Amino acid sequence: MNATVPVLKSTAPNVPIHKTLTGQKALVTGANSGIGRGVAIALGQAGADVVVNYVEGDDAANAVVDELRGFGVQALAYKADVSSEEQVAAMFRQMIAQFGTIDILVNNAGLQRDSAFHAMTLAQWNTVLGINLTGQFLCAREAVREFVRRGVVPAVSCAAGKIICMSSVHQEIPWAGHANYATSKGGIKMLMESLAQEVAPQRIRVNAIAPGAIRTPINTSAWNTPEAYKQLMTLVPYGRIGEPVDIARAAVWLASDQSDYVVGTTLFVDGGMTLYPGFATGG
Ligand code: NAD
Repeated sequence: MNATVPVLKSTAPNVPIHKTLTGQKALVTGANSGIGRGVAIALGQAGADVVVNYVEGDDAANAVVDELRGFGVQALAYKADVSSEEQVAAMFRQMIAQFGTIDILVNNAGLQRDSAFHAMTLAQWNTVLGINLTGQFLCAREAVREFVRRGVVPAVSCAAGKIICMSSVHQEIPWAGHANYATSKGGIKMLMESLAQEVAPQRIRVNAIAPGAIRTPINTSAWNTPEAYKQLMTLVPYGRIGEPVDIARAAVWLASDQSDYVVGTTLFVDGGMTLYPGFATGG
């Protein structure tokens, strides 16, 4: 296995993204960095108009908007804290005023506040649960309200709406020192599945993506030195780190009618991390 750190060059293949989302209206939370940025850009390449939600970093958000407009789609940067009920409601009002409706929600915003369990503060716990889990509830609720109000528009999509929840391999893999984060992702699994079951009869599709190790600012220390990268690769049978575009392609597929019969599923995009690689040589 080659454990050289490919710092500058993407490790992901350069596969084209097809126009499967033309005219659809998408909102991506946490879209000015990492995975959310990659997803927003891919949705735009697929033809969707995109709201780029972010909480800080105006310049980075505006850069994503500029890139999206370069694809000939509409784009709007909107600053809102997804853990705030008022700010989320205002963001959806603005999106509907400007774009007319919403077809695709990508619930991506998330963070870590790591700590040994005995030292974890209530603030660390509440921040992670508030943004990673309650934030997904608040955004999904607004989206579902609009999907139900509008219903299916056959010229746009077979479904009345699509929600993609960004989970993690840590909805399955326990993670010492990250109890708040792993709990939030375990919660997303049940939120996603319960909501999918509830709204499928209204032809709303709710699914999740569980990324493995993706090269973004959230986990820089796991890949930015040769030693860290080599150690990380012991957890990844496929032998390379994931890139935001690996997740973005999965999101485009889950948002499109190509996946119309996929309901309530978590798609693991993890290079095999959940295959228990420690057992590859025995166990
Ligand atoms: P990142 O730090 O690059 O991006 C996180 C984004 O969330 C940023 O745009 C940030 O501004 C936004 N955000 C944070 N708090 C917010 C709030 N209160 N309201 C609105 N936006 C907020 O990290 P990333 O790696 O791109 O993570 C994106 C998602 O993917 C997260 O949910 C994360 O848990 C998940 N994930 C990442 C990995 C990985 O290896 N990078 C693996 C599994 C899951």
